Amino acid sequence: MSESVGFIGLGIMGRGMARNLLRAGFPLTVWNRTASRVEELVAAGAAAATTPVDLAAKSTIIITCVSDTPDVEAVILGEAGVIEGVQAGTLVIDCSTISPQTTQQIAARLAEKGAHMLDAPVSGGSEGAERGTLSIMVGGDEQQVQRAMPVLQAMGKTITHIGGIGTGQMTKLVNQILVAGSMMAMAEALLFAQAGGLNLQKVLEAVSGGAAGSWTLSNRGPQVLRRDWRPGFTIDLQQKDLRLVLQAADQLGVPMLSTSMIFNLYRTLQAAGAGAEGNHALIKALEQLARIEVGGSSPQDR
Ligand code: NAP
Repeated sequence: MSESVGFIGLGIMGRGMARNLLRAGFPLTVWNRTASRVEELVAAGAAAATTPVDLAAKSTIIITCVSDTPDVEAVILGEAGVIEGVQAGTLVIDCSTISPQTTQQIAARLAEKGAHMLDAPVSGGSEGAERGTLSIMVGGDEQQVQRAMPVLQAMGKTITHIGGIGTGQMTKLVNQILVAGSMMAMAEALLFAQAGGLNLQKVLEAVSGGAAGSWTLSNRGPQVLRRDWRPGFTIDLQQKDLRLVLQAADQLGVPMLSTSMIFNLYRTLQAAGAGAEGNHALIKALEQLARIEVGGSSPQDR
């Protein structure tokens, strides 16, 4: 294994993904804007870089997993960014969910330095990042995808090369239409079950194993019943993704009926100050409309 890997962005997703790269035996250098977040990775055997440019000088494969499009631009193209230290032949893999068009522009800038880029957004939540079972949707050149495969396999289970640069991000937007829809279906179903006086725990058990079962139901349903709004994926980041979906759909001229409704329901929660809560808190928007509270210590759960 001759690649040295650099990892930028040790948030909810990045820290689990970086830990799995260490477990797989890759020499790893890490950088995070908030410096204290590197400590647990350094304790596990990673080296710490002082800036993205410092990290780039030490790495042949650089992975980024930061929040939004301007943040990827900042760490790659910004001051003391990756582009200032990148060597010809280096491969940059962006695992953030960002604009497909900007991805193509960043790839073009890196290509001027002789560096390669893949877009490789992920799905599977904080649990998937932790366990190394992410689905990874990859766009870019086939040869670089083959080169990246051992690194991607250390972080994920289902790795799909979709097509050219940007197609990974487009596929991730498809994924987010599905995620938002399943979150909405779960919220509406649990509200209905609560109003019907059903035992919600038993309802979840009954429907999770059948045709209506889903990742959302199995992983976030129990959290809703406990009224545990800690984020696997924050509402603010979910909104960033739905904004990307709606912008792309507008350009494509495709109507997005339920996605735009769900975007607006999440907006009411952001306006109420809940942007840092998990995206399963969507149910609170329906609770407000119905004046019903789901789960928690309601008699149906006891
Ligand atoms: P997060 O916990 O909020 O972490 C965001 C990371 O980005 C942090 O390390 C943060 O640094 C860094 N960052 C943000 N803006 C930056 C900037 N301008 N310059 C440098 N660093 C910056 O988010 P996350 O949940 O890990 O998500 C990361 C990416 O993965 C997002 O694109 C998200 O859409 C995607 N994703 C998330 C999930 C999920 O379930 N959470 C699933 C699939 C994909 P600080 O520590 O300094 O704040």
